[in-house]
Amino acid sequence: MPPLLAIFLAGTLVWSALSLWLSRRQIRHVAARRERVPADFAALVSAEEHRRAADYTVARERLSMLRELAGTLLALGWAFGGIGLLWAALGGPALWRGVAFLLAMAVVERLVALPFRLWGTFAIEARFGFNRTTPALFARDLLKGSAISLLIGAPLLFAGLWVMRHAGGLWWLYAWAGLVVLMLVAPPVYVRLIAPRFNRFTPLADAGLRARLEALLARCGFRSDGLFTMDASRRSTRGNAYFIGFGRTKRIVLFDTLLERHPPEEIEAVVAHELGHFRRGHVLWGMLRGVAILFVVLAGIGWLARQPWLLAGFGLGAIPPAEAAAPALAVCMLLAGLLSPPMELLGNAISRRHEFEADAFAAGQAGAAPMVAALLRLARDNASSLTPDPLYALAHFSHPPVPLRIARLRAAGAPAGDCQETVAHAAARQG
Ligand SMILES: [Zn+2]
Repeated sequence: MPPLLAIFLAGTLVWSALSLWLSRRQIRHVAARRERVPADFAALVSAEEHRRAADYTVARERLSMLRELAGTLLALGWAFGGIGLLWAALGGPALWRGVAFLLAMAVVERLVALPFRLWGTFAIEARFGFNRTTPALFARDLLKGSAISLLIGAPLLFAGLWVMRHAGGLWWLYAWAGLVVLMLVAPPVYVRLIAPRFNRFTPLADAGLRARLEALLARCGFRSDGLFTMDASRRSTRGNAYFIGFGRTKRIVLFDTLLERHPPEEIEAVVAHELGHFRRGHVLWGMLRGVAILFVVLAGIGWLARQPWLLAGFGLGAIPPAEAAAPALAVCMLLAGLLSPPMELLGNAISRRHEFEADAFAAGQAGAAPMVAALLRLARDNASSLTPDPLYALAHFSHPPVPLRIARLRAAGAPAGDCQETVAHAAARQG
């Protein structure tokens, strides 16, 4: 076996084993605590709710172990002959062939992921009462999503491969500049053209709540393009809220499921938390981090793609260098996959720190008590486990476990903050 392929094999197996080990720890930890509500929450969460959260967490984790295995097998399949087979099966001029090749790879990846999405939605989410997606809606979403990906992806791949071929050794720098422009253009395009194909967005109708949220935004000097509700209840019962865009085109979107279940003071806390992400610079810092990571990754690909040993190392040495842009990209992507677990670890650590800061900001703007109440209700309604395995949470959680967030909020009390000093996305993604 060529050394590069051996390194890829070893790295992939090590990461996969580690991931499965963490998942097993998580399942055992949660299952062992299924019968006892943590003391701090005994008065707030019923034994039945606690058991349901444990069962849901375990069911989802088992599915994610299977998905991890399938992903590992697929990556190894690509590396051990799959790339060569697919490339040989396609023909035509190099550029077209390259685009068809990368699109076909993406299709295979999606097909492999599909059974897990189906099982997740129609078996697990349905069993725990979260799913409202009908098979027809699922199929429509899938078709629409694929059509949009194709419409956007195919021209981008074409442009990318063209630049690789014709722009010389610095092609990756031009590709980086192009992608940075796309990152800036994407949010307004998503808000105006893509998101409305999947959901209805209507201006927030509840006048009392609107006045309350507008007062919050004014207090914080936050200009937005409007407060909207989204019919998320068509697909799921989960509540959430998000902010999207920059400058004056920032939009605040509240799920109808959030509005149904939370009293106004909790919704204010949730919006204040999201606002905290803006005011604390998390959104800008996240963008800059994304731009910097993209630069490093593309510079790495730019260098790797020029090395004659790259394709040879994966048994693809027979492809003439002039035509090899797409297979080289595929190999670079496989290798980049080896770097993603440590990147995820680092990204999650940064994200968790930001969540605490946004909670503190929310406490200052809307009070600690409503923020605690909102987090508790979200955890209960979304069946988030209150007893995750600490090591698993360290690796995989982008949000700190709810008990830690609540403990911090309680310890800090309600600091009399103003907007410059302090503020809430009690988003459902507790991990
Ligand atoms: Zn947040």
